[in-house]
Amino acid sequence: MTSEPIEALGHDVALLEKCRNFKFARDLQAKGLYPYFRPISDSEDTEVTIEGRRLIMLGSNNYLGLTHHPKVISAAERALRGYGSGCTGSRFLNGTLDLHEKLERDLARFLGKEDCLVFSTGYGANLGLITALVGRNEHIYIDKLDHASIVDGAQLSYGRTVRFRHSELDDLEAKISLRASERGALIIVDGVYSMDGVIADVPALARIARRYGAVLAVDDAHAVGVLGPNGEGTSAHFGVTDEVDVIVGTFSKSFASVGGYVAASEEVIHYVRHHSRPFMFSAALPPASTASVQAALEVIQAEPERRQRLWENTARLQSGLVNLGFDIGKTETPVIPVLIGELEPTFIFWRAMFEAGVFTNPVVSPAVPESECRLRTSLMATHTSDQIDRSLEAFGKVGRELGVI
Ligand code: PMP
Repeated sequence: MTSEPIEALGHDVALLEKCRNFKFARDLQAKGLYPYFRPISDSEDTEVTIEGRRLIMLGSNNYLGLTHHPKVISAAERALRGYGSGCTGSRFLNGTLDLHEKLERDLARFLGKEDCLVFSTGYGANLGLITALVGRNEHIYIDKLDHASIVDGAQLSYGRTVRFRHSELDDLEAKISLRASERGALIIVDGVYSMDGVIADVPALARIARRYGAVLAVDDAHAVGVLGPNGEGTSAHFGVTDEVDVIVGTFSKSFASVGGYVAASEEVIHYVRHHSRPFMFSAALPPASTASVQAALEVIQAEPERRQRLWENTARLQSGLVNLGFDIGKTETPVIPVLIGELEPTFIFWRAMFEAGVFTNPVVSPAVPESECRLRTSLMATHTSDQIDRSLEAFGKVGRELGVI
């Protein structure tokens, strides 16, 4: 074997032209503005070390700060010793543990649904739910700001996807009313939109779903642990749990781990369990992650003061940013966007915040419209008031220097 065929691949094959021509990331790297894949070498939850620099973490989804909770860590350690490092197979065959089944029972009870199915990621949960439920000639209605995993699930399904304008339920109603009523339909939205922190109007969505014979699913990735009397999410926040057919979620945010779930009636979960390809043909959630999520679920219920602290922190950062003169859009939650505008100024702002000791996430097109690029910040229950005030100081300084405020 010589290396020639590989050389040829790199230079002559049409398929790879797109790789050769992809300059966006390299241009940003050359300008020192590349914000992605920055390795964290040490983390104490609200503060991290990146490239030798100590930074306040304002870009994590660790809403309740449970990644470092002693009960969460010791549950993971025990499971690792008792069950080993991985399940090495699908839930369907050799990968189901009693840990998964207990978590499913407890999560279903917590969320107010009959049954629940644990997936290995939240991304997979959306793919698995949508592709299992929506068949040929059926319709799926999605908000334009729905998470990528909903968009991808819709695309992968055999159904017809219809997008409605963000949070504009008149637009949804106009579109869903055109559908022949015998066709199955799924409406699926984010409970809290991850790009602008807005809460979906779940009661109104439930009314539309009933009126037009559709199933309503809510992805509560950013709402569980955050909204609701006990952190159950948007449906409980509005008191309409029984009117929401399916709740989807992730373990990568308030649950401080990785994985996802779908909660619904026993009949729906039984069906999804036997028809969801992303569930059946992918390995099960590892023991340590499953046990840490179980512990996090218990802490969420036992320590409501964490949720209270998260909301106090949210009020402090939101009002501080507004007082400085920033546009934070219509956020109602710990997800707080700081609107900058065009792409390059957003990366320049991100870099200046990084140098000032604050880690944020730049969000650009196609996740948001081209002229609405932003830094996305999110809070944790464990941020101190001092950390928030220091972050605000940095925002003020950078905002004035760059003429954003
Ligand atoms: N849904 C929403 C609304 C999300 O924000 C995310 C993660 N950013 C996901 C699903 C995917 O979750 P996971 O990280 O567990 O794959």
